[in-house]
Amino acid sequence: MRKQIRYAVVGLGHIAQVAVLPAFANARRNSRLAGLVSGDPVKRAELARKYGVERTWSYEEYDACLKGGEIDAVYIALPNALHHEYALRAAQAGIHVLCEKPMALDEAECQRMAEAARATRARLMVAYRLHFERANLEAIEVLRSGRLGEPRLFNSTFCTPVEPGNIRVRRDMGGGVLYDIGIYCINAARSLFRDEPVEVQAATAGMRGEVEEAVTGWLRFPGDRLASFSCSFAAAKVSEYRVAGTKGDLCVEPAYDYARPLKHRLTLDGETRERRYAKRDQFAPELLYFSDCILINREPEPGAEEGLADVRIIRALYRSAESGHPVELGPFERSDRPSLEQEIRRPPIDKPEVIHARAPSGGS
Ligand code: NDP
Repeated sequence: MRKQIRYAVVGLGHIAQVAVLPAFANARRNSRLAGLVSGDPVKRAELARKYGVERTWSYEEYDACLKGGEIDAVYIALPNALHHEYALRAAQAGIHVLCEKPMALDEAECQRMAEAARATRARLMVAYRLHFERANLEAIEVLRSGRLGEPRLFNSTFCTPVEPGNIRVRRDMGGGVLYDIGIYCINAARSLFRDEPVEVQAATAGMRGEVEEAVTGWLRFPGDRLASFSCSFAAAKVSEYRVAGTKGDLCVEPAYDYARPLKHRLTLDGETRERRYAKRDQFAPELLYFSDCILINREPEPGAEEGLADVRIIRALYRSAESGHPVELGPFERSDRPSLEQEIRRPPIDKPEVIHARAPSGGS
């Protein structure tokens, strides 16, 4: 059996250039960057040279990329609205799919992607980097161990300014606060409570480009547990959550970042302890883990069900914001949850210069 999974990275925008492409150097054990798919000939040529990649394709040549026998997997780093089409075509061709979050724009798209992967026995994983990151996995462990007593409340704020024209504020690209950053708060609440919400409500405010500027939402979990969060595309950067239990609380701040060290502030019996988690490469662990899933024939956690679990909540929150009423959610079973055993450590990478790409807030 092949020891290294050969990946094509599809879409060479900001995250692909600052995080995904450099991560392959940290994932050589079982992963190799074998191809690039991009609509920009300059990026194709320059990034192929920089990373020593043999093959590049335009989007028009995507079928040739999938069917030419030169790759085993794709890493989809396209705008949200294109995840479904490009993942579906890969899965239908029997190519394994590592897809950026959110998995897709609605439940039907997620289900079609999952079915296509099942039909050809392709593996499908959603790129939730925090499922392999120590500070977030240890937060889950603190709750699991019972040190906070019974978890009662989760509260989170995640804000990042987004400049006009960015894919995050374009409707046709699948923009929206919940799809882009709200998803982190939803995923964290589900992972920490190890459960699925039964009812949700949201309100939106303002406009940024073609989408809402901000969202505040709450999720009701079984056992009288509540999660609330606020996210904005207009406020200065904030990235934090706090879980309060009957015996103490844990604040993680920053919580969701990949370019800064993350921190815990744990308060038990009135005594507070801080812990800092060194900055690491959060993208190579996803490659290492997914390639292992392919090589040893294991269902990835976070797989298609995990992606769908968040998208169905996002859809319900948007329905609630439109109607002004809470929305009830049907039952949803998840057996697999992230846990500390999934942690993979790799050293941080140096941020490279980018070509024809901009950070969400502008600049490189
Ligand atoms: P960018 O806008 O920087 O990049 C998107 C790329 O997609 C473009 O550069 C372009 O690449 C390609 N593309 C193909 N068709 C289109 C089109 N019609 N319009 C615009 N771009 C197109 O976005 P990001 O890199 O910031 O985000 C990409 C994805 O990654 C999103 O799904 C986002 O949610 C996710 N993401 C995940 C993060 C994480 O931490 N896991 C962090 C940031 C983003 P090309 O020119 O090569 O064709």
